[in-house]
Amino acid sequence: MSVVASQLHREDSTCKPCRSCKWQIPDPTDPNSGQCTANRTEAGAVWKRWIRDVMNMTCTRHEEGKLSFREHV
Ligand code: SF4
Repeated sequence: MSVVASQLHREDSTCKPCRSCKWQIPDPTDPNSGQCTANRTEAGAVWKRWIRDVMNMTCTRHEEGKLSFREHV
């Protein structure tokens, strides 16, 4: 496999949390959790990754979602 995975990691009080990233989909039952949709498999399918703490986790592929709310600022 040659999938290039983003380095999702914990970073307390990061200024670029998954929460504000356009790739993140919030979990409907747990606001602290979500899923990252930034990654693709070789076949091009979305490869979701579980995010345990959307406020304190980040990666190098963080992109501000244009439509996301910005309560973290
Ligand atoms: S910061 Fe990285 S891991 Fe988090 S949602 Fe965005 S792309 Fe995914």
